[in-house]
Amino acid sequence: MKLPRHLAIQNGHLYINGQDCVALAEKYGTPLYVTSEDRVVEQFENYKKALGARYPKVQVLYAAKANGNLALLRALAQRGAGADVFSSGELHLALDAGMEPGRLLFNGSSKTPGDLKLAVEKSIRVTVDSLDELHQLDAAAKAAGKTTEISFRVNPALTVPTHPKIATGLATSKFGIPHKDIPGAYREALGCKNIMPVGLHCHIGSQILDIEPFARATEVMVRIAKDLTSMGIQLKFIDLGGGLGIPYRHDTDPYLTPEDYAARVVPIFKEGIEACGITPELWVEPGRSLVADSTVLLTRVNSVKSAHKRFANVDAGFNLLIRPAMYDAYHEVIAANKADSEPTTDYTVTGPICESGDLLATERKLPELAAGDIIAVLDAGAYGFAMSSQYNSRPRCPEVLIRGSDVALMRRGETLSDITATMERPPWQK
Ligand SMILES: *Cc1c(COP(=O)(O)O)cnc(C)c1O
Repeated sequence: MKLPRHLAIQNGHLYINGQDCVALAEKYGTPLYVTSEDRVVEQFENYKKALGARYPKVQVLYAAKANGNLALLRALAQRGAGADVFSSGELHLALDAGMEPGRLLFNGSSKTPGDLKLAVEKSIRVTVDSLDELHQLDAAAKAAGKTTEISFRVNPALTVPTHPKIATGLATSKFGIPHKDIPGAYREALGCKNIMPVGLHCHIGSQILDIEPFARATEVMVRIAKDLTSMGIQLKFIDLGGGLGIPYRHDTDPYLTPEDYAARVVPIFKEGIEACGITPELWVEPGRSLVADSTVLLTRVNSVKSAHKRFANVDAGFNLLIRPAMYDAYHEVIAANKADSEPTTDYTVTGPICESGDLLATERKLPELAAGDIIAVLDAGAYGFAMSSQYNSRPRCPEVLIRGSDVALMRRGETLSDITATMERPPWQK
């Protein structure tokens, strides 16, 4: 199996960023998320370099929902990253991590009055998803005596080759404003005293392994930019969203780099804005492609069983990694302590959750397994811990971060008292 550069097999063990996964599992226990900070930073720099080489005014906004650990946000903030935030919680995290307010964008299709008020107070730009929201935001800005800068989210009505649950730019999607209604929305915004429309936003979906949909979306965006410019709107930024996929199937999926993305998209962007006579910033919002391959989930085999299939029952399930259950997602798995043993046997790797859908990997060739072996689930850095739960009253596992030869916890494991900490005893039970 092809491995990215920060993963290696040495003396029969899987290593991440120079650290032995088996030793990490011993030291911190399992299940355990392990992330290479160096890899996340490298991918961020790859985006900046690829886009920046082709156009001078570029902002890379990390999509914080992919992995909201403060340590990662901080590492990115220190290198000048902004963030796409989709909730007040993510906004607080991005600010806590030291990101500049001007590099944040508050996205979302269903914001509360509290979200809008917070964005106004912190002077965060907001991507508005409906005219209703526009007028609520205008009122919130008026109440605070401020002007809030906005973009609208365009629904470009594009079909993209990905799982339907993560295709967000379909005509029927809940996100954004139909592209034909966009000029009207900006006209309405121009009439709002406390709103200043300065940007244009789209995000067509996630785990897209083809550059062409991004090219199509860029064409739609610059076409709209032309209409807006002729209406007198001065666009400060055009945000093309995120969505670049990663090769979860290491040996067969295409590997698209930020360079591939920039080489296809930036020329269309530049030609379009030159036709408008404007020079807005180019923003992108990668999530998955920044963090997915930085992380392995280490999980220990509790037992093996031969039934109608051979099962390896491990200690992590969809409580910690829901992608296989939710999106039929594929993740490569490696026996981390038998990494150069012959893969002889088909195993279905199953979690400890009381649901038959709790499978991490189905019928994969692995070496003969036994209780105590360590399985590494690869590419678990995006929408992994971020979508975890305490289902079945299982405390969430710790997360470890590696930079260079340094290793440290970036989140401690939860305990049973974390599970009960927010539970209240109704007075009639006292
Ligand atoms: C989720 C999301 C992203 C990131 O998508 P990836 O596929 O992880 O790159 C970017 N922008 C918005 C608005 C999002 O909702």
